[in-house]
Amino acid sequence: MIKINDNFCKLPAAYLFSEVARRIDAFRKAHPGVDIIRMGIGDVTSPICQAAVDAMHRAADDQLSEFTFHGYGPEQGYSFLREKIAEYDYRSRGVNVGIDEIFISDGAKSDTGNIGDILSRDCKVAVTDPVYPVYVDTNVMSGRAGELCDGRWSRIEYLPCTAENGFVPALPVDNPDVIYLCYPNNPTGTTLNREQLAKWVDYALAHNALIMFDSAYEAYITDDDVPHSIYEIPGAEKVAIEFRSYSKTAGFTGLRCGYTVVPKSLMGVDSDGREVSLNALWNRRQCTKFNGASYIVQRAAEALYTPKGQRQVKETIDYYMRNAKVLRDGLTEAGLEVFGGINAPYIWIKTPDAMSSWDFFDLLLTECNVAGTPGSGFGPSGEGYFRLTAFGRYENTVEAVERLKKLKF
Ligand code: PLP
Repeated sequence: MIKINDNFCKLPAAYLFSEVARRIDAFRKAHPGVDIIRMGIGDVTSPICQAAVDAMHRAADDQLSEFTFHGYGPEQGYSFLREKIAEYDYRSRGVNVGIDEIFISDGAKSDTGNIGDILSRDCKVAVTDPVYPVYVDTNVMSGRAGELCDGRWSRIEYLPCTAENGFVPALPVDNPDVIYLCYPNNPTGTTLNREQLAKWVDYALAHNALIMFDSAYEAYITDDDVPHSIYEIPGAEKVAIEFRSYSKTAGFTGLRCGYTVVPKSLMGVDSDGREVSLNALWNRRQCTKFNGASYIVQRAAEALYTPKGQRQVKETIDYYMRNAKVLRDGLTEAGLEVFGGINAPYIWIKTPDAMSSWDFFDLLLTECNVAGTPGSGFGPSGEGYFRLTAFGRYENTVEAVERLKKLKF
């Protein structure tokens, strides 16, 4: 029989969301007709904006004519979109990113998961804890994580982010080669200001580490002091790869489009000690394994940069951030300690009376008929926390808060 990649067998079953679904299902069966408000899953609820939908209609019509038909596109993405990204997402913030440093993809999950293809299996990895599970699981798959022991992988350095340290992780002590940072953060909804992020860039420069900077929630930043891109920090172009996504920015969770910036100044070293460009390796990886995001979707993404598109995107983000404020204010009033929700669409609740994350889940489900996500599912330091998202409908968010207020913590 064919030999498999043993690392896949090391992965525990994807427990978190299936267990959430199982408990909701069991409750629903036991209490038919109850109206459960689901505020756990990270998908958006608002439709895609008119500017993007109009662009997709036009792009679909392009496919009708031999003169405007588009077949295989460039693996790196169309220049019409890469130019907009370079101008609006970077140059407007004083950052110079060349279009040959931008790689369009079908989203940040694939890119954050695939990027390890170009790195040695020996690289040591550090993650903030709690963490978006894709960073950990994909390193398990590629054999970098070691063994699972009490909920921790032996070769991964966990950098706790808790209320005690204000969700600002301490710098690593195990000399990792690769550090995953996600700001604004999923799941904690917190972020790093310029000075705090600069410490990480300086650390990476001093220790030859590579930062994987996931800024999937960049569009939710409201504070001026929070960088939208890691490249706003001097020197970051020598140590960081940045991942972006249109999923939460513009509701493209189903359409699928994002991009990754791999600066040309980013160098690695091969086992013979020769310097190699990471940009060249990622380009090679994409050209070999990826055939580009679809033309229609890239036209939709391009439309987000028009004045109409930008206005419409902002309206949707404002809508979610109004939900975030309702959650923050309402839950604080209910006596809970809450974090996040100012520069991110996630609210991170400290469970009352040292309750476990799952006990709090059960409490909210049974007493309020509100479903969220237990923090422990995101890593050891998530225990004792609970995540609610601001991606729901406004009426449901208000109703959920009213129900929670009745609990009196
Ligand atoms: N990165 C983070 C931190 C996320 O929370 C998510 C989605 O929830 C993604 C990446 C995935 O984004 P995409 O839809 O572009 O694959």
